[in-house]
Amino acid sequence: MLRLPRFSYLRPESVAEAAQILSEYGPRATVVAGGTDLLPKMKRGQIEPEVVVGIGHLPELRQIRATGDGGFEIGACVTLTEVVASSELQAAYRGYTRAAALVSSPALRNSGTIGGNLCVDTRCNYYDESYEWRKALGFCMKKDGNICRVAPASATCRAIASSDTAPAAISMNATVLLVGPKGEREVPVESLYQDDGQFYLTKAADEILVSLKMPSPGAWRSSYVKVRNRGTIDFPLVGAAAALKMNGSVVEDCRIVITAVGPQPLDVSQAARPLLGRPIDDAILEEVATEAAKPARPLDNADISYVWRKRMTRRAIEQAIKEAAEVA
Ligand SMILES: Cc1cc2nc3c(=O)[nH]c(=O)nc-3n(C[C@H](O)[C@H](O)[C@H](O)COP(=O)(O)OP(=O)(O)OC[C@H]3O[C@@H](n4cnc5c(N)ncnc54)[C@H](O)[C@@H]3O)c2cc1C
Ligand code: SF4
Repeated sequence: MLRLPRFSYLRPESVAEAAQILSEYGPRATVVAGGTDLLPKMKRGQIEPEVVVGIGHLPELRQIRATGDGGFEIGACVTLTEVVASSELQAAYRGYTRAAALVSSPALRNSGTIGGNLCVDTRCNYYDESYEWRKALGFCMKKDGNICRVAPASATCRAIASSDTAPAAISMNATVLLVGPKGEREVPVESLYQDDGQFYLTKAADEILVSLKMPSPGAWRSSYVKVRNRGTIDFPLVGAAAALKMNGSVVEDCRIVITAVGPQPLDVSQAARPLLGRPIDDAILEEVATEAAKPARPLDNADISYVWRKRMTRRAIEQAIKEAAEVA
């Protein structure tokens, strides 16, 4: 059995205090919300904080609020289950709520939060082994080592972006509110990530994700398709979010975001151009999905062959667009 290492647990009274603690302790401290990703990682020695700062109890992070302009602000510590249970969010953001519903299992969605999901660590079959396993075979650059064991020629870690909700939120042009010791700032969800599996988040280590701001859906309809090993629990092998702005049966605009095919979610909406100004048909859909899947770079660091995962990227995109078009 893997045990948690020793650490100090701090319970701040506010987000500002939490940010202050993170700033004081620097890399020795980290935030925990639901703990469904962080705690297993601590058991495997992938993350070794001396201080863990709990934020799940803070009321300011636990609300879902209509913003008055048709949009919603969802507190970072709202659980995935609460998002899925909200009929208002379901009606407005089908892709996002579907992505939340497909994260892991019911028990983990009861604890797992939307902020934790957006910040969830990147994954790699090598790095996700136990400390002893990695020590025996040799550490890699994401933790304790200096080379990538999957792509030794790569200068950066290629661990895989694995948040299901991130691509869906990006496809709806959502933003996040970050609060740190220097103040607050709002950034598009897309710019929260970068093409490096080790340093996958662009936010400062002492910034706390306070809320997700979903703009009014207006005429946008959305969907999310996930390919995984077991339908009841696994991380995405490929994920595709699609959002369509329709005028009757004619597509006015289309956004496509794919995930689990590299270290960050990829906005591949440029490939959707042939769909615009016309109804969807199978031939155009195939052309668009083929083009949109091109930037996918799966490697041999997740289950099933990367060739199959690349092929499934195209299929997931096709299906996501079809499903978004079918939303009433
Ligand atoms: C068996 C298993 C299956 C899983 N399957 C999936 C899956 O299919 N899809 C998926 O997306 N995830 C999956 N997960 C990962 C995880 O359960 C979810 O991503 C969950 O939403 C994480 O939320 P949390 O609140 O538990 O995060 P935590 O574990 O508390 O935190 C995760 C990371 O985010 C940081 N963090 C958390 N909240 C904030 C915040 N507000 N501001 C700044 N940083 C923050 C933490 O410091 C930590 O680095 C799975 C996990 C397990 C164990
Ligand atoms: S992709 Fe390479 S560096 Fe990154 S976690 Fe896997 S083996 Fe380590």
